[in-house]
Amino acid sequence: MPSYPPAPSFPRRATAGPRPAPQPNLKVLVAGVDKDARAPVEMAVRQAFAGRDLQAPWSVSLVRLGQSWSVTLSGPGERFRHLSFVAEQHRLEDAIREVISGDVARPSAAAAASSSAPAGSGSRAKIQERHVCGKCKKELRVSYEGEPGEPKESAPVACPHCWAMIHVEIGTWAVVGGDYSADKL
Ligand SMILES: [Zn+2]
Repeated sequence: MPSYPPAPSFPRRATAGPRPAPQPNLKVLVAGVDKDARAPVEMAVRQAFAGRDLQAPWSVSLVRLGQSWSVTLSGPGERFRHLSFVAEQHRLEDAIREVISGDVARPSAAAAASSSAPAGSGSRAKIQERHVCGKCKKELRVSYEGEPGEPKESAPVACPHCWAMIHVEIGTWAVVGGDYSADKL
């Protein structure tokens, strides 16, 4: 496991307040940190959506980038299709709320991201890596989108030759989104 700096504490209201009502249409995925650090992040996201009537499914993927979070929102309509921005941890909840509120034409979080975070979503590129299946020993190629220097995680992949479930290291972003594929080589 890679080690990450300890998570800074969240504002008190994010952890000590009443738990937001469960929202079945809201899916939160957090990567790059251990299980204990995920809970407050998930809570911040759910707080940002608290009080909203979610008619359509939303998903929020968060990948740790140093002291910030790379956030990808997917919600209903063209406007919320794979909306990516970077937010510092202490204002994660506010940043998400700003982005999903209807008031802002261009999210200020995204504007701030372009000046303060070099690792924006624009640098994501197609990555292809060769692996060898541990069962049948044949080669396969795993394809996904990733950013340079992003952390990797072990992800389950079905071998395209023998369909054994094997684990390969791929970029955290792709692991979170479940967006990767394996081909025969
Ligand atoms: Zn195989």
